[in-house]
Amino acid sequence: MESTLKRTWAEIDLDALACNYRILCARMGPASRFMGVVKADAYGHGAIEVSQTLESLGAAYLAVSNIDEARELRGAGAGLPILQLGLTPADQTVWTLAHRITQAVWSESAAQAFSREAERAGGKLKIHIKLDTGMSRLGFPCDKSGFDESLDAICRVCALPGLEAEGIFTHFSVSDEDSESSRDYTLLQHARFAAMLEALERRGVVFSLRHCANSGAVAGYPRFAYDLFRPGIVSYGIGEQAAALGLRPVMTLKTVVGTVRELPAGAAVSYGRTFRTQRASRLGVLPVGYADGLHRALSGRWQVWTPYGPAPIVGRICMDMCMVDLTGLPQTGEGDEVEIYGPHNSVNDAARLAGTIPYELTCAVSKRVPRIYYREGREVARELLLRN
Ligand SMILES: *Cc1c(COP(=O)(O)O)cnc(C)c1O
Repeated sequence: MESTLKRTWAEIDLDALACNYRILCARMGPASRFMGVVKADAYGHGAIEVSQTLESLGAAYLAVSNIDEARELRGAGAGLPILQLGLTPADQTVWTLAHRITQAVWSESAAQAFSREAERAGGKLKIHIKLDTGMSRLGFPCDKSGFDESLDAICRVCALPGLEAEGIFTHFSVSDEDSESSRDYTLLQHARFAAMLEALERRGVVFSLRHCANSGAVAGYPRFAYDLFRPGIVSYGIGEQAAALGLRPVMTLKTVVGTVRELPAGAAVSYGRTFRTQRASRLGVLPVGYADGLHRALSGRWQVWTPYGPAPIVGRICMDMCMVDLTGLPQTGEGDEVEIYGPHNSVNDAARLAGTIPYELTCAVSKRVPRIYYREGREVARELLLRN
């Protein structure tokens, strides 16, 4: 569906994505290939278009969090292998097989269930073994107390019928943090990963696709390249490390000045009357609110970028609108485009002010915000996720 409204929209710069892809591939070296993490609708950027671009650039693999996300990509013609990172009920295996999806396997009992279901469906399910090296979320424990048991269990899993053990991976919890204790912890996680790979190899169990590097590791530990690397946030040009790597933000969230009000001093703006004009003011009313993904915690804290400079958001952000102070920007008028997040107005800074991480802000850009895709400066596609 096409949006007819010039209200609030997200411009997705596929050239920036391509540029980021090339920088990251060069960083990790020719032996390691790109696994595009496109879960959560590619962090709000639009999984179909992002995946198509990554596929055309030569990415090796895609990663999603669940079967519906994988099915969406297959339905749109994605040809790349797709790894399902998350918890998947084994009774979905018939779909996992039908859509040629690779399943992460986090325990022996999960592997047994997948094996049974794959045999029943008459297929062979590709799996990647998930190692828990210190995140304490999913995976075979690789700390001292769990190591030997996990080693035996993984050997048994790899011999189960109905499964093809193609890969093995782990996930870092603090690879994006710079403190000495975080660096030590990342090195410990990596040492556990490497030790398990080596122990498995001594048992004759080898994997063609080993991977561990998320964005933090790509930025801070490019030597953890292995066969695949698995960046999410940095490939979209956001996160604290993106700029230092020369990566460009892929999304620019924009809206327009919907109308301009002249207010006297002392006027109470928005719900709760948390802001009162200190002087006669020009107030811009923008058609963007928290239902579009503009986090309400940014009320009174963030600014939008007008063609003439920044305009602070004043008063509470409403569901569908918010107000900005244009008093100091007399040239700004109705219909002017303004940037909410993007190259002038970093979503990293907005996230810090909202007490969260940029991931949450781009994922929050909602289905009523059309995504408009650009390649070589030209609009190539437009997508609105509302039904009908
Ligand atoms: C989300 C996710 C990634 C990507 O993380 P970033 O921090 O965005 O790079 C990589 N691996 C796994 C297992 C994930 O869940």
